[in-house]
Amino acid sequence: MTATQRDIAAAEEHSAHTYHPLPVVVATASGAWMTDVEGRRYLDMLAGYSALNFGHGNRRLINAAQRQLERVTLTSRAFHHDRFAEFCAALAELCGMEMVLPMNTGAEAVETAVKTARKWGYRVKGVPDGRAKIVVADNNFHGRTTTIISFSTDPEARADYGPYTPGFEIVPYGDLAAMEAALDDDTVAVLLEPIQGEAGVLVPPPGYMAGVRRLTAERNILFIADEIQSGLGRTGRTFACEHEDVVPDMYVLGKALGGGVVPVSAVVSSRDVLGVYRPGEHGSTFGGNPLACAVALEVIAILRTGEFQARATELGEHLHHELGLLTGTGVVAAVRGRGLWAGVDIASEHGTGREISERLMERGVLVKDTHGSTIRIAPPLVISKEDLDWGLDQLRAVLAG
Ligand SMILES: *Cc1c(COP(=O)(O)O)cnc(C)c1O
Repeated sequence: MTATQRDIAAAEEHSAHTYHPLPVVVATASGAWMTDVEGRRYLDMLAGYSALNFGHGNRRLINAAQRQLERVTLTSRAFHHDRFAEFCAALAELCGMEMVLPMNTGAEAVETAVKTARKWGYRVKGVPDGRAKIVVADNNFHGRTTTIISFSTDPEARADYGPYTPGFEIVPYGDLAAMEAALDDDTVAVLLEPIQGEAGVLVPPPGYMAGVRRLTAERNILFIADEIQSGLGRTGRTFACEHEDVVPDMYVLGKALGGGVVPVSAVVSSRDVLGVYRPGEHGSTFGGNPLACAVALEVIAILRTGEFQARATELGEHLHHELGLLTGTGVVAAVRGRGLWAGVDIASEHGTGREISERLMERGVLVKDTHGSTIRIAPPLVISKEDLDWGLDQLRAVLAG
């Protein structure tokens, strides 16, 4: 048995099978590259679903974490700590908003957005008690909690977890007329991904986000943008909403906010909205801890330079140009995305997304399939053009073979 086979067998024996990982066991990583337990190198073209936008072992982020590790790592919110105010102010400023409510994982932040919208609906908008409605899109992915999967349309994510949380209405993604029809006096919020990541990097039709912004503003409904995967540089902007000049009422952030070091998530909004909370009404033991704040502050400083947004734009144009050529040859049925982010539908005669992912792995490239015939390409934004081209060469070779 190889070291890889031993590790995989042990994982299968002692962990619940909620994932079906590619048969590679990573031991170390740097930048856009990972090395496995047998010394093989792989180009990371997934970047932890955008959690690793700034690359593995990013020096600035590791240094920030190490400095904070030596000072204080956790206080709980029972006490103040000296990185908290700085973090909240910096994140609010990055978002052009006023207040921040920090959490840890993306799902917790989405839960926080749901709770915030409901509380705002009752206390500010004046919706009758127990009637608050939140409109979401089909094929969404907002996390794995019981409430969040209650408004999923993915049978795998949802089956056998009922009874489900009421208070959500699901409309087709990208259909503005359906959205308008769903909005009523009890609607407190619309919750959307500006680009649907897990669904296969689905970009809505032009004007959709701006249309939802207009409809929600007219009706005093909060527009919540789940930018957990699309935000913080991936699409070439700090927020994917910017592509349509949309400013939502609330950003939900996660993944890259923790720099690939620690889980950090947050809801960011106005004083009118986040000001609804009183002490004891919501919280998290680890939310906004000193280590998380120190790392996230460095992430925010990196984003302020605009360097990674520019890289995502530039390399993204190149990526989409090259993938477009593959569409022309017919091996690729469709390509979607924005910036350094692409969903690639493989023509079915070339194999399933999983098979393509396995063949890419054998050639030293790691991607993740989704929904049968789609692979997702989202390398760390630190990737060099040469490495990106090499990765695309491997994809061409796999599709030619
Ligand atoms: C990953 C993701 C989440 C959930 O984040 P977790 O940290 O895994 O809980 C929510 N929304 C979107 C759009 C995501 O991509």
